[in-house]
Amino acid sequence: MSKKELCLVCPSCKVTEINIRNDKFICDKCNLFYKIKDGYPILINFNLEHVLIKENEIEIKKKNIKKNKFKNKILNFFYGVSKITETNAINFLDILNNNNSKKVLVIGGASRGSGTDRLWENNQIKITSLDLVGTENVDYIADAHYLPFKDEAFDGVWIQAVLEHVLSPEMVVKEIFRVLKKDGLIYSEIPFMQQIHMGKNDFTRYTASGHRFLFKKFEKINIGVNGGPGISLSWSLKYFIWSFTNEKIANFLSVIPFFILRLLDKFLSQTASWDGSSGYYFLGKKNINFKFDKEELNQVYKGKQT
Ligand SMILES: [Zn+2]
Repeated sequence: MSKKELCLVCPSCKVTEINIRNDKFICDKCNLFYKIKDGYPILINFNLEHVLIKENEIEIKKKNIKKNKFKNKILNFFYGVSKITETNAINFLDILNNNNSKKVLVIGGASRGSGTDRLWENNQIKITSLDLVGTENVDYIADAHYLPFKDEAFDGVWIQAVLEHVLSPEMVVKEIFRVLKKDGLIYSEIPFMQQIHMGKNDFTRYTASGHRFLFKKFEKINIGVNGGPGISLSWSLKYFIWSFTNEKIANFLSVIPFFILRLLDKFLSQTASWDGSSGYYFLGKKNINFKFDKEELNQVYKGKQT
């Protein structure tokens, strides 16, 4: 997609369309320039609140795609691919009508999320991907608190396992609302019963009800659990093993519980999943006439506790 089609704006003022001059993106209004590193525009004002990353921490990872595909196949065999995410991706694409003018923003798209191959491989949508690290999947390096796109630039936004890594999920959701067109779709996944991952850059967890309330400006299409108590227990076992060994051994040994317990999840009661889920998803729509009814929150939880 050409940069002109996307209507890039300065992430600080969100007003000025930014122009390329001498391999830099310039905002005349803010008197700021944004660098390009190894071909990746870095559209971040590092002085803004909530931006934690420093300029010298921006990494460009040239991965070996073929080697990664092989590694992912092995990991997927043991850890499984989320069937729920796969189904949700199909649903997401169906609602977008598979119209070739549809633009989808993937926030945190440095690596493909579990169960998202159909999304990435659908050549009827145009994906724009951003992350804080540059990989072959990334178009722009940007911070989700300050999206460098004009209002109503996208038909859909996909944000999977990202919101736990941002300082202010509320602010990121507000930005998603801004860059979505009327009737635009949002798909979010967030962990619940998972231990710390990405070390110092892990800030929060949400229940299904909390996740719904986070997206209160959006009309709900679907909401549910992603990964039952078996997966949650596998996470716990991995971190239990890690507590007296090291990460490599923990990863190696936890393959067994992940392989067995995720299969057991299929036989557990669906209500139990709501109480001990590994994560939750939310699929919603930007409907500017939608008013959030607090009564809807009472309907979200489908667990064992009344
Ligand atoms: Zn500006």
